[in-house]
Amino acid sequence: MRRLEEVRAEVLAAVRPLAPVRLTIAAVAGLVLAEPIAAAEDVPPFANTAMDGYAVRAVDTVGAEQDAPVTLQVVGDLPAGRAPDGSVGPGEAIRIMTGAPIPVGADAIVPVERTSRDCATRVQIHAAAGPGAHIRAAGGDVAAGDAVFASGAVLNPAAVGVLASLGVVEVAVHPRPRVAVLATGDELVDGDAPLAPGQIRNSNGPMVRALVAEAGCEVVDLGIARDDEAALEATLLDAADRCDLIVTTGGVSVGDYDVVKAVLSRIGALVWSQVAIKPAKPLAFGVIGATPIVGLPGNPVSAHVSFELFARPALRRLAGHGDLDRPVVTATAAAPFTRRADGKVHFDRVVVALGPGGFSARRSGEQGSNVLSAMARANGLAVIPDGDGVAVGGPVRVMLIGDPVSVAD
Ligand code: AMP
Ligand code: MG
Repeated sequence: MRRLEEVRAEVLAAVRPLAPVRLTIAAVAGLVLAEPIAAAEDVPPFANTAMDGYAVRAVDTVGAEQDAPVTLQVVGDLPAGRAPDGSVGPGEAIRIMTGAPIPVGADAIVPVERTSRDCATRVQIHAAAGPGAHIRAAGGDVAAGDAVFASGAVLNPAAVGVLASLGVVEVAVHPRPRVAVLATGDELVDGDAPLAPGQIRNSNGPMVRALVAEAGCEVVDLGIARDDEAALEATLLDAADRCDLIVTTGGVSVGDYDVVKAVLSRIGALVWSQVAIKPAKPLAFGVIGATPIVGLPGNPVSAHVSFELFARPALRRLAGHGDLDRPVVTATAAAPFTRRADGKVHFDRVVVALGPGGFSARRSGEQGSNVLSAMARANGLAVIPDGDGVAVGGPVRVMLIGDPVSVAD
C-alpha cells in the first residue's frame, strides 16, 4: 500500500491551472483571478453623505443640544443621483439623502433624527456635528491607483461587486473546469426503472456530478458505461477531447471486470494505487492525451471520500486555486472512535458540532463503504491514524466537508 500524501502528490503533479480567459464579471463568481486589478477610479467617486439629514457647516452647529437647538435656513433639497445646484452658506442647510454628493460649503451632516422642522424654510439642529461627520470621503473605499486584487484572488460575490464599483466589465480568470463524469458497471440502472435481479441503482453518477458542481466546475454527464472495454475506451477518448478532467467510478479494484484499469493501462498511462486509507483503497489515475482522469472506486462512500482526497484538490488546481484543501480542525471525540491497526488511515464519516467548548465529533452512522446514508449525514471526515482509535474526550483531526452544526451546550 502507498501513503496517501505520495499518491495525492502524484495526481496533483499531473494537473496544471487552466489557461486564463477573459470573461465578463457576470460569469466570474467563484473563479480565480489571473491578473492583478488596480483601481482606475475612486470609490466612492465623490464625497457623499452616509445618512439622510442636513448638510451644514459644522461651525454653525457648535453648542446645539436637544433642548437648545440651533436654527438654520433650509436652502435646498438634494436626493441621491443629483448634482448639488447650490452651496451651503453660513447659517444655512441643505436637506440631503444618503448617497447624495456633499454640496460646496458644507462639511458635516446632521442626521434627520437629530433635527426638527417647524416650517418649510427652517430646520432646528438638536446636536452639534463635528467636521466630517457622516461624510464618506471620495476614494474612502478604494482610491484610484490602489492595488485591489492580486492575481490568484478568489472572486467571491463581494469581489464581483468591487469590480463593478470600479467600472471593470471584464477580467482574466482561470475558466471553470469542464469535468466529465462517468459511472461504470453492468449492474447499474438510472432513475426509477424496476430492478432486475442483480441490478442496483446508479447512486455514484448523480452524487459525483453534484460533487463536481459543488467544487465549482461544469459537469459533462457521460451517464453509465457498461463493463465493455471497447465502448469505455471510445467514451473516454471522446471525453478527453472535450473536457479538462474525467472522473469515473467503479472498475478499479482487483476483480475480473475492472475495465477502467484495463482501458487506462492501454490509453491513459495508468497509475493504479492501493492507497493506505479506509475507505477508498483503490485509485486509478491516468492522463489521456493531456486530460487527467481520476478513477474513483465503485462503493459509493469510497467514491465520495476518494473524490474529496484526490479529485477535488485536482479540480481546484485546474481552476487556479492556491488553496486546494478543506479546512481541518481539531475536535474532541464525543463518542469513541474504535478501530484496529491495519496499516491504514481511516476517514470516518462524522457529525461535527461547534459549541462554546470548541469542535466535537461523533460518527454519523455505520461506517461500511456502502452506507451512503451515513455519508449524507456527515459534515466531516475524521482522520483516525493507524492504531487502536481514539477514546471519548481525545483529540480528533477532522476535515470539514460541510458547515459544523452549532450547539448551545
Ligand atoms: P466495482 O469497483 O466496480 O467492483 O464496484 C464496487 C461496488 O460498488 C460494487 O458493489 C458495485 O455494485 C458498487 N457500485 C459501483 N458503481 C456504482 C454506482 N454507480 N452506484 C452505486 N453503486 C455502485
Ligand atoms: Mg464495477
